[in-house]
Amino acid sequence: MKPTWLVLFALASLAAGLAFAPPSGAQTKPAPKPPLKIFISVDMEGIWGVVNSEQTSAGNPEYANARKWMAQDVNAAVQAAFLAGATEVVVNDSHGSMRNIVAGDLDPRATLITGTPKPLSMMQGIDASFQACFLLGYHAKAGTENAILDHTISGSVVRSIKVNGLELPELGLNAAIAGYYGVPVVLVTGDTAVCRQTGEVLGPDVVTVAVKEAYGRLAAKLLPMDEVRQKIEAGAREALKKLSGAKPFKLAAPCRFELAYHVSAQADMGAMIPGAQRLDARTLAFTADDYIQGFRALRAMISIAPAR
Ligand SMILES: [Zn+2]
Repeated sequence: MKPTWLVLFALASLAAGLAFAPPSGAQTKPAPKPPLKIFISVDMEGIWGVVNSEQTSAGNPEYANARKWMAQDVNAAVQAAFLAGATEVVVNDSHGSMRNIVAGDLDPRATLITGTPKPLSMMQGIDASFQACFLLGYHAKAGTENAILDHTISGSVVRSIKVNGLELPELGLNAAIAGYYGVPVVLVTGDTAVCRQTGEVLGPDVVTVAVKEAYGRLAAKLLPMDEVRQKIEAGAREALKKLSGAKPFKLAAPCRFELAYHVSAQADMGAMIPGAQRLDARTLAFTADDYIQGFRALRAMISIAPAR
């Protein structure tokens, strides 16, 4: 090609380019990322390393380590969530004082909800704007064999809780709060017992990660720490990959609650709440028009009962 033709070709290409260029000021912005908001409720009994309540209560020398492990289990899931495209991750500290995670230990991209009391307790902060919920460090319901620190809401008060005839562990009671807002629980972590109960209550599609296997209530075989954190990360990734097929756990309203206390003196107190019906010495029942209303009444009935 001669230089003249080269110049003509270059000019023609430039003109063509100009003709197709968008008018100045009308440049298209990249499409906004669809929101992927993840809500995480984190309890402590199902955290890696934890086998005894001395590790989960402030004031004990072992507590400092356990609260660090709690942040580390959560951070593995938070990391996976952001890698999967999460636009926001909210972590609700859900154990005891609900001030277990030291704010500075949490992945700095995540939002922390800390302290108690909170109207929705372990699920405070969730609403219909979230796309998925993780329940981390959870434990089996009261009365489960080979389950680390098994209990339901209050170890010293509650023997069992049924909603619409179905006995539920905390994971079910809290999944129903998420379900009320249309949010599916897609990941549960804890010991092998809580993983099994997740399948029984929420179905086999929810991803579970076992971090320990219990030999009774107060002893467990821990998986190697690094392996556990990798498993939590992989579990969170898998759960979010399957998110489009996930279903919220919904309990049909009106909801009938049955609360069995350990001893009758506790039911004597709960029975003073309007609407409570005494089924036997230690069991109360009541019906609520919607699940959230019922959940609040349930918490009040538990809170006013004296420890046995
Ligand atoms: Zn707890």
